[in-house]
Amino acid sequence: MGIINILDDSIANIIAAGEVVENPAAMIKELVENSLDAKANKISLDIDTNFDLKIVDNGVGMDRNDLVLSIERHATSKIKEKKDVFNVHTYGFRGEALASIAAVSKIQMTSKQEGQNAYKMIAYAGKIIEVTQVNANVGTSIEIRDLFYNTPARKKFLRKESTEINKIKDVILKEALANYNVAFELKIASKVVFKTTGQGLDKTVFEIFGKNNYKNLDKFNLGFLGNVEAVKSTKDYIFTYVNGRYVKSNILDRAIISGYDTKLMKGKYPFVILFLEISPTEIDINIDPSKRYIKFSQEAMIYNMIVKEIKDYFYVMDRKNWRPSIAEPQKAYEYEPKEMVEIKDSNFSFPMLKNSSNYGNTKETHFEKQIGIFEKSDGTNKKYDVLGQIFNTYILVNNTETDELEIYDQHIIHEGILFNELMEKASQKKMNSKQLLVPRLVSLMPKERQIVFDNYNIFEEYGFEIDEASENEVLIRSVPDFDFRHPMENVFKELIDSIIINEFDIQDIRREILTSMSCKGAIKAGDKLTMYEMQNMVRRLHEVNRYTCPHGRPIIAKISKEDLDKKFGRIK
Ligand code: ADP
Ligand code: MG
Repeated sequence: MGIINILDDSIANIIAAGEVVENPAAMIKELVENSLDAKANKISLDIDTNFDLKIVDNGVGMDRNDLVLSIERHATSKIKEKKDVFNVHTYGFRGEALASIAAVSKIQMTSKQEGQNAYKMIAYAGKIIEVTQVNANVGTSIEIRDLFYNTPARKKFLRKESTEINKIKDVILKEALANYNVAFELKIASKVVFKTTGQGLDKTVFEIFGKNNYKNLDKFNLGFLGNVEAVKSTKDYIFTYVNGRYVKSNILDRAIISGYDTKLMKGKYPFVILFLEISPTEIDINIDPSKRYIKFSQEAMIYNMIVKEIKDYFYVMDRKNWRPSIAEPQKAYEYEPKEMVEIKDSNFSFPMLKNSSNYGNTKETHFEKQIGIFEKSDGTNKKYDVLGQIFNTYILVNNTETDELEIYDQHIIHEGILFNELMEKASQKKMNSKQLLVPRLVSLMPKERQIVFDNYNIFEEYGFEIDEASENEVLIRSVPDFDFRHPMENVFKELIDSIIINEFDIQDIRREILTSMSCKGAIKAGDKLTMYEMQNMVRRLHEVNRYTCPHGRPIIAKISKEDLDKKFGRIK
């Protein structure tokens, strides 16, 4: 007897729902894209904390017949013949999304086409309960409740609420950026958390990323290029779109990074918004519901084109901005302690420049640092003779006890010392906070903002006082009383980014704050040190007895007398 059954549609839909509705964010993406396909220029979403939701658009709507068909499997208005599959200009075309969503929820859809009657349809688990004529505006509104109510096993897959909400915001952000003539509004539990007005690309970028980011973005042929002030430590700010779809592609990322060339330091990524228009027959999109990976049939051509566009842009800009360095006062204000100050004693602090307002608010941060990291002390230790510094990076120490030449990485040992001291303070709840003279406005993406407010208590415990400023900005009023040696905004943003990329939990977040403070506060490789400073560092290292760096890198290399004797053939 045969064992193959043809699954009935309702089971097939539930299985498909596992893919389409992999998570609420993926489902919302489908719904938003349906609204976009229906040519809506206004889309609003209201999501409850248990993921009940309502989406309203002002698109072309559906007639009664289409409304009923829309939740049928393989119901699509977008493909009629086989050749259409290879030439799709709409977001959806598989006719799967609504059927899948309806199969695992209670859905109510109201739709009206211009000059027609409006109809409301209610369906439970994909079975239509009623269709009635109602009054409504042109467009479609869809309410979804009790997601997965009929498939309890799947319900468990709904992840932590804040993680999901972040993903949803991310989805809306990416759609809103590409569809800049569409007004988006996202409410979570009736509170507006994201909003654009659909008034063109520039306004949309401004509305999404805030004034501070916007001023560091320049328009070029393919979108926006961030300048060096907008450099990030993650690739999250490389937004690539092909034919209006957000896509992920190594080729595109690599081309962008290559276009920036030497403008980027190692481990840094630019803020770029890139829009490509390519014939659909030249691309292959593997539609994984959340990320869209794309392949190009003409990879090399596209790669070269993007590199060239970016290089050409900077070629022109660099020449336009070039002036003889002597006549460029701003340059001298870049933070470069070794050229600007001789480190003399413990309490020396970097002069505060009061008239920095000429250079705009954000530039002020460069003057905030103090150099008082090497406290006054005798600075010698009997067992350790500091011999000197090489390559402005390593400290040479003669360990008279073990007869070994020890080589210390100056950044790493300083980082280790700071980390240990901060740990001590944190465990005794003695982290001090200093109020900023002028509170700093920092632009944050929705995801970043969420991290800050989800972990508000931790930030506060460590000395950050943060206030909401607007939808995409926060105000930093106080910071840990610590010499960060970097502009405060950068430290803060990098910290948040790192929490996001690593998906840290609470314990890890505490550690990450200390790790990033000590990393930022530590002297760098390449900084010239005086004998006095080196002696102090080595003494503090041995005082705290800490020989591993917070990142787990080795901190001391050793060469014994025996090693040298062998090298020179004194012994075999
Ligand atoms: P697909 O988008 O792949 O065609 P869906 O299951 O997402 O499949 O939607 C099925 C059909 O329902 C669409 O082809 C479209 O005709 C109709 N539809 C869905 N959402 C809307 C909407 N917001 N406005 C108008 N029509 C819609
Ligand atoms: Mg669709």
